[in-house]
Amino acid sequence: MQLFDTLVKYDYEQVVFCQDQTSGLKAIIAIHDTTLGPALGGCRMWTYASEEAAITDALRLSRGMTYKAAAAGLNLGGGKTVVIGNPKTDKSEALFRALGRYIEGLHGRYITAEDVGTSVSDMDLIHQETRYVTGVSQAYGSSGDPSPVTALGVFRGLQASVREVYGSDDLGGKTVAVQGLGHVGYDLSRQLHEVGAKLIVTDISDTMVKRAVEEFGATAVAPQDIVAAECDVFAPCALGAVISDDTIPLLRCKVVAGSANNQLAEERHGDLLHEMGILYAPDYVINSGGLINVADELEGYNADRAQKKVEGIYDIMRKIFAMSRELHIPTYQAADRMAEARIAAIKQVRSTFLPVSRSLLHRA
Ligand code: NAD
Repeated sequence: MQLFDTLVKYDYEQVVFCQDQTSGLKAIIAIHDTTLGPALGGCRMWTYASEEAAITDALRLSRGMTYKAAAAGLNLGGGKTVVIGNPKTDKSEALFRALGRYIEGLHGRYITAEDVGTSVSDMDLIHQETRYVTGVSQAYGSSGDPSPVTALGVFRGLQASVREVYGSDDLGGKTVAVQGLGHVGYDLSRQLHEVGAKLIVTDISDTMVKRAVEEFGATAVAPQDIVAAECDVFAPCALGAVISDDTIPLLRCKVVAGSANNQLAEERHGDLLHEMGILYAPDYVINSGGLINVADELEGYNADRAQKKVEGIYDIMRKIFAMSRELHIPTYQAADRMAEARIAAIKQVRSTFLPVSRSLLHRA
């Protein structure tokens, strides 16, 4: 891997390799861009097949966070940590405290959070060494489980999507096919049921499906049939790469809008949806409620304020759809351009209005 070539290509700011023999820590902190503010991004622990795979993941995910924070209107940049190891067997107090020391050493350029393979108790250990960590337990001012807030953002994104397609954001009477009834999918289904939407649902867990059928009067289908369900909105809330060459010909919806990360198997699948007249709600925007919520911890968590910001996903989505319409580009491209434009504008502002540096003051 030509690391510096990759760093130059996507303009990464910094990569930190963290090693601690005693605890066995091997971690990579990637900071993609801090134009808008400190780089915030979760800490993933995984048994990577190779060190190269771990580096690639850290780089890819940190860049994704730059776009997500920028599109959500947050004053945060993009970063990510990956810890190489088995989350079931390799965790220890020393390991997370060692990582905390490294994060502290970045003096706030990077702020960590929970991710795949890490938990609140791991964040609490990191918190013993640094304050640059979110998602700690509630005793330390955490915002708690982000899923209901993520679901609220997805719900607002769905409203903006149906408004774009049908001219009204009323989801009453609309049919929504929800794939995955976990933390987000279940809560989204509840909100949809409350406004009178008709639900078609699936999950690989029968218990989850049974609950949605009983509580929301949902129609259950087998997991392999959800993509082809006749509906207004298909809401992927389980897996990534669900929009692919295999599934696109099966879709019977006008909108794809759900919480799952990386819904497009490849970017060109976003082009295909656009050509077919199916509106795609860019995943990293519609599911940014969790990030918005956790970011609020940095100002001393206030649930009402966080919720208000998450409600703003509606307007952000409307802007993206308008841009897509006006420029005749797919919505995923519009989202990227909106994020890039915001970063470029703030970069310009910050280079124009230079603060008087300390050294100049000393000289004066
Ligand atoms: P979860 O693990 O609680 O729920 C996922 C559900 O999908 C589970 O019930 C699982 O049984 C089901 N599932 C798995 N494979 C399936 C399949 N083939 N067909 C149907 N159902 C299947 O996860 P979650 O927290 O609800 O997150 C859902 C998605 O949203 C994930 O892609 C996640 O990355 C993304 N997301 C979540 C949040 C959040 O705040 N939780 C924030 C941003 C993005």
